[in-house]
Amino acid sequence: MRTVTTVAELRAALETARGKGRSVALVPTMGNLHSGHIALVKRARDEAGLVVASVFVNPLQFGANEDLDSYPRTLAADQEKLQSAGCDLLFAPTVEQMYPHGQQQLTRVSVPQVSEGLCGGSRPGHFTGVATVVCKLFNLVQPDVAVFGQKDFQQLAVIRRMVRDLDIPVRLIGEPTVRAANGLALSSRNGYLSAAERDLAPILYRVLTTLADQIRQGRRDHAALLAEGRASIEAAGLQVDYLELRDALSLETATAESRQLVLLVAAFIGRTRLIDNLQLDLDSLE
Ligand code: AMP
Repeated sequence: MRTVTTVAELRAALETARGKGRSVALVPTMGNLHSGHIALVKRARDEAGLVVASVFVNPLQFGANEDLDSYPRTLAADQEKLQSAGCDLLFAPTVEQMYPHGQQQLTRVSVPQVSEGLCGGSRPGHFTGVATVVCKLFNLVQPDVAVFGQKDFQQLAVIRRMVRDLDIPVRLIGEPTVRAANGLALSSRNGYLSAAERDLAPILYRVLTTLADQIRQGRRDHAALLAEGRASIEAAGLQVDYLELRDALSLETATAESRQLVLLVAAFIGRTRLIDNLQLDLDSLE
């Protein structure tokens, strides 16, 4: 695997690969890689001749009080993991390479509707930062296919909408969430948790699965159900940011008629904010 840090090197490496007729898959990440990221790289390996990963902690998507400075940067370990997973090319640019003209006057991509509420409500500007950097990565790499995790369900919805609305010629793949044996969704931010907090964290997935079971069994009093879920999470000592049931296709609030559903949660354990979600297809029950 080759690592490049500049746009010029990236373009040159891609030109060579394309000259040999290889299709290109892109896996964008912020690094500090775990098995969830590696599953995306392996999927990319199955999909294309050249697998490109990016590691870039994107300042545009962090709010003023968020963890941009403390976000773990572990490039050497990431390189080893990517190499073992079959990645061909790693793009690990500096902030100056990505935003050579600064961030203040930068053209941005904002995706209405699906960016609103949920994480977009708690993290103003976050999804504009995500859409902008992903749009730039798509323009730089021009991948045939790009692989993202369903773990960041709203993020994937935002990127799907951007690709649709801006006619970006890329095929998107959403990979299922990789979890620890206790159900906790793998996340770079799990590293912030103390041992005691780590024991509490699986409550999120437990509550999602309990709520999903009840919906499958026919419960449709969504507000009461979500209030019960919220109470269970808070009883475990976490602070719920949101717990919602949405239509999985539109991301609008689910109605009694919605058949493709997604439960989404964000909660603080101490100072660490974790997210998770669970999809439910009521049509597949019949
Ligand atoms: P991040 O480095 O957190 O920005 O994530 C980079 C990509 O990895 C995104 O597409 C995430 O959705 C995906 N990802 C993060 N955690 C997981 C996980 N546990 N399982 C699958 N994909 C994940």
